[in-house]
Amino acid sequence: MIEKVYCEKCGSEMISIDNKKPIGMNCPNCGWGWASSYINEIDLDEKIYEIILLEGNEISNATVRAISIVTNTNYLNSRKILMKGDSTLIQGNARQIKEFASILETNNIKYKIVPEYPY
Ligand SMILES: [Zn+2]
Repeated sequence: MIEKVYCEKCGSEMISIDNKKPIGMNCPNCGWGWASSYINEIDLDEKIYEIILLEGNEISNATVRAISIVTNTNYLNSRKILMKGDSTLIQGNARQIKEFASILETNNIKYKIVPEYPY
C-alpha cells in the first residue's frame, strides 16, 4: 500500500487522487495537492500489446523500410513479411506500441492491435 503523506500546508493526511494509480495526492482539509503531470495513463498500462500486420499492403521502399524498423529485421526479410501479411510484427507495452503504430500509420500500412488498444 502507499505510505501516508501529510499536507505541507495544514498537516492533514493527504488522500490519493486515484487509489489505483500513483498520480497525485490531495488534502481533504485545505485542498492543497499535487499531481504528477509526467505520468500518463499510457505509462501505467502494464499490458502487453501485439501489432498484427494485415494483408494487402503496398510493397514499396517506404513500407518495407517501415516494417524493417518495427520488426528490426533486414530489408529482404521485411519485404517477405509485408508480402505475406497476416503476421505478428511486434509485441510491446502501450508506449512502445504507440511508437511502432505511428510508423506504420505514417506509411499507410494496414495493421491491427490486440488486445483492444485505447490510446
Ligand atoms: Zn491541507
